[in-house]
Amino acid sequence: MYKSVIIGTGPAGLTAAIYLARANMNPLIIEGPQPGGQLTTTTEVENFPGFVDGIQGPELMDNMRKQAERFGAEFHTGWVNGVDMSERPFKLNVEGLGEIVAETLIISTGATAKYLGIPGEQDNVGRGVSTCATCDGFFFRNKEIVVVGGGDSALEEANFLTRFASKVTLVHRRDELRASKIMQDRARANEKIQWALNRTPVEIVADERGVKGIKVTNNVTGEEETIEASGVFVAIGHHPNTGFLGGQITTDPNGYIVTNPGTSETNVPGVFACGDVQDTRYRQAITAAGSGCMAAMDCEKYIESLEHSKVVL
Ligand SMILES: Cc1cc2nc3c(=O)[nH]c(=O)nc-3n(C[C@H](O)[C@H](O)[C@H](O)COP(=O)(O)OP(=O)(O)OC[C@H]3O[C@@H](n4cnc5c(N)ncnc54)[C@H](O)[C@@H]3O)c2cc1C
Repeated sequence: MYKSVIIGTGPAGLTAAIYLARANMNPLIIEGPQPGGQLTTTTEVENFPGFVDGIQGPELMDNMRKQAERFGAEFHTGWVNGVDMSERPFKLNVEGLGEIVAETLIISTGATAKYLGIPGEQDNVGRGVSTCATCDGFFFRNKEIVVVGGGDSALEEANFLTRFASKVTLVHRRDELRASKIMQDRARANEKIQWALNRTPVEIVADERGVKGIKVTNNVTGEEETIEASGVFVAIGHHPNTGFLGGQITTDPNGYIVTNPGTSETNVPGVFACGDVQDTRYRQAITAAGSGCMAAMDCEKYIESLEHSKVVL
């Protein structure tokens, strides 16, 4: 039986692994479909503290993994297909291992950005297509940018990007936005934001140097047009990776795990959550890492209290 199993190896899971391994808890870390997590899909990371000149995403994640291994963390690559939390210890069904049991779980399975699913999009992620304005806005100083989406986060990203861009065009397939009135008012007052409503994205236009624009269909006239831009920010939401939990943990209506305020505790004692899987607000590598540290420390305390209660009994 494992004292602790960590599910996911993004910055949250790997930070939890470093802390638990250094605390002699011998955690097993299950990597899932994307070892190293989302940052392995990007190039330059300029906002993770400690790297004066920035660092490549895959290199940062490789370093975190090596740091955890140095303290004895054990890794397994495979999906967690299901978890049974109805009794203790918890049972996990793991691809390549079968059933394993664990006293505690740390869930750090992240959230996946939704994409448009149009030609040219996936080929140009990191070459002008982005899902994170905070991460990538800085690379588009004095350039023209398109933001796709109609909710609060799309308008927030559009507003934020006007700090860098010469122009931001908001593309949305309806003529009305879902965003709150206050966000709409703020965006409409921003002279750098142009509106391309009633337009459906059909293709990202790019050449060997990266994105050149986005082809859209005008839903009123049926005509196609290309909006020129060096960057296309897709802001149509995220999908938390919590399906494998089968509804055994309290989530919000969008599937994000709910944690007790200021902690990593879920509604199931002994199950902790950290990183983007429980974060609808910040979604950054450093906040994921910070919450991974919290989960490891909460988990250690929980195991200690279990061991203490066994001694007292
Ligand atoms: C292109 C891109 C660029 C970015 N750039 C920056 C940046 O410059 N700066 C910054 O701070 N942030 C950046 N981010 C955001 C940052 O990557 C995330 O906030 C961070 O990775 C979240 O970490 P996490 O540990 O919560 O989860 P993730 O990194 O999402 O990792 C999730 C892990 O869970 C595993 N997993 C999922 N489901 C299962 C399952 N069923 N069984 C087992 N394992 C599973 C996956 O394999 C993966 O290892 C960027 C994101 C993207 C997509």
